[in-house]
Amino acid sequence: METSHISPDVAGSEPIDDREPWYAEIAVPRPLPQTFTYVVPDELRDRIAVGSQVEVPFGRSRSPGFVVSLVRGGAAPREGLKPIGTLTYPDPVFDGAILELAKWVSEYYVASLGEVLMTALPGGLRKEARRASPPPEARGLGLAQIPRSLSAAQRKALAVVDDAITAQVFRSFLLYGVTGSGKTEVYVRAAETAVAAGGQVLMLVPEIALSFQVVERFRLAFGDRVGVFHSGLTARRRQDVWRRARSGELAIVVGARSAVFTPLPSLRLLVVDEEHEGAYKQAETPRYHAREVAIVRAHRAGATVVLGSATPALESYANVQRGKLGLLALPERIDARPRASVVVHDLRPREGAPKERTPILSRELTRKISERLSKKEQVILFLNRRGYAPFVQCRHCGLVARCHQCDVSLTFHRTSDSLVCHYCGDRKTHFGTCENCGSLRILFAGIGTQRVEEELQALFPRVQALRLDFDSTRRVGSYEHILRAFGAGEAEILLGTQMVARGLDFPNVTLVGVINADAGLNLPDFRSAERTFQLLTQVAGRAGRGERPGEVVLQTHYPEHYALTAAVVQDYEAFFLKEIALRREREYPPFTRMANLLFDGEEEARVIRAAEWLGTIIGRDARKGLTLLGPAPQPLSRLKGKHRWHLAIRAPHHATLRQACVVALEEWERTKREHAGVRMTIDMDPIDLL
Ligand SMILES: [Zn+2]
Ligand SMILES: [Zn+2]
Repeated sequence: METSHISPDVAGSEPIDDREPWYAEIAVPRPLPQTFTYVVPDELRDRIAVGSQVEVPFGRSRSPGFVVSLVRGGAAPREGLKPIGTLTYPDPVFDGAILELAKWVSEYYVASLGEVLMTALPGGLRKEARRASPPPEARGLGLAQIPRSLSAAQRKALAVVDDAITAQVFRSFLLYGVTGSGKTEVYVRAAETAVAAGGQVLMLVPEIALSFQVVERFRLAFGDRVGVFHSGLTARRRQDVWRRARSGELAIVVGARSAVFTPLPSLRLLVVDEEHEGAYKQAETPRYHAREVAIVRAHRAGATVVLGSATPALESYANVQRGKLGLLALPERIDARPRASVVVHDLRPREGAPKERTPILSRELTRKISERLSKKEQVILFLNRRGYAPFVQCRHCGLVARCHQCDVSLTFHRTSDSLVCHYCGDRKTHFGTCENCGSLRILFAGIGTQRVEEELQALFPRVQALRLDFDSTRRVGSYEHILRAFGAGEAEILLGTQMVARGLDFPNVTLVGVINADAGLNLPDFRSAERTFQLLTQVAGRAGRGERPGEVVLQTHYPEHYALTAAVVQDYEAFFLKEIALRREREYPPFTRMANLLFDGEEEARVIRAAEWLGTIIGRDARKGLTLLGPAPQPLSRLKGKHRWHLAIRAPHHATLRQACVVALEEWERTKREHAGVRMTIDMDPIDLL
């Protein structure tokens, strides 16, 4: 394995003067574009290496940092350089390949190299995850179909991937397989090929706790040669997985987003499962997209990369059409099981019908649920909103309960009798009266999962329903506990948010009900139709995975919308053609590239002024084909007490866009004092504008 260790005899043919000082370029995890030069103290010379982690004096304090290059001898680059403080980890934490990959991420996303390296680091100095999830070890769930022989389509896809792995050159594929078509089995078999050839495999999943069925399948095939990064691991255990991957002891590494930076010296195959998932894009700096990093990494390593999805990201499918990705299709479900049939229940009141409250579950859906229950089959209900009611208003004085820090209404949670802000987590007790006038006449509007749960108890008092959402899975182990209970048939109904949409495989589920299919359609984001289509298709894919055929009911107020009509017939291509035409017409990605400059601060006037000023700077470069959108308030205009504005930039090519962002960042740094109290961050290729 390469460690880029600089030893005294590789620096050139010049005789070395031992008295000449050494210098190190250090990347510090701060939002600054440059690296910093420090003097290497004599006593560290024989232990320090490129990739070492150090601690350095920085401003008035100390900062961790990473050695990105070493210069031995020669004139001092600058007067008054400070020496490195301590060598935290002498053994390089990053190898040459990861360091280069991190540099690419830093340049492409206009992010600080130190912050990228900090993100890549497994635990160590990084804070532990806020909410530890359980280790994915639920055995005996959904694996009834193994071992099995491959379908013709699976064999065909596998043969192509195997060839690419054997050829040891960069190849990239989109494995487009309808839900239930057996993508996981293709990943596992391809991994076997890579491992048999002495290679290593990197398997990325959107969220490890929600992908335990995939993890389980890999463990079954590779035993303890599989290393899994999950948020339940201690920093020490994470570093252990990292170390074993680096030494080649592990053949397979499975992990979420940041696992893309795991050092794997013999990398031959990368898999990005559910490649359309938003979880692959980091929501804070550095805002990289793990799918894009995986492709770049595969390219550099001469490895094969497979992106898998039943509902590919529009960009990925467009890349197939442009010839950038090879297409591998699994058009049928395994064992030629029919896809679930999808029906729409229009929730709009019929014309001339007496005005009545829209039911939470339509009469038809209720009837279908009881039919399935009487046959001892199981039901999944999906509603992408947790809590009881997302809108609480006093009927007497009209006061709406709002978060005092964010620009959103509070959600009533019945299980805890509290009003909760779903953005900052702030909560207060709800006493059943209006805070303003004391009235008892409170309106609870809208529907959350807790309300559906209550409705189910009223309609089916003897039926056991499990709720799967953020609130019911806060305790460690509860996510798995709920799914295990449902898998064992201890409950008839599973009700949940998008957690139930992700890859779950329960053969006894024959009915899936979507309570509000158009909930996400009206968000101010050009990707809202794509997200809705993906979510509905994924949820629909949970039905009929066993021997009995499945059925899906979509309740909607907007049955004509193309995202819904395409989801009903489960026709990805039809959706793609409609959506890609709209993107072209409106000049949105993938026809253009976008960056979103985000501004926040406590004083709104200062935030606006800063955004406008930077807009003027970038606007000077208009000849390059840049289009500025805004500045405007972000759709969520206040969050945790901070006012939020943004400035979106659109350009025909990434290079132009990146250049504009670099200029913006330089100008921002140069005039930092003028906009004290305002923070500016760059989101390259944003995946949502909320
Ligand atoms: Zn009131
Ligand atoms: Zn809030």
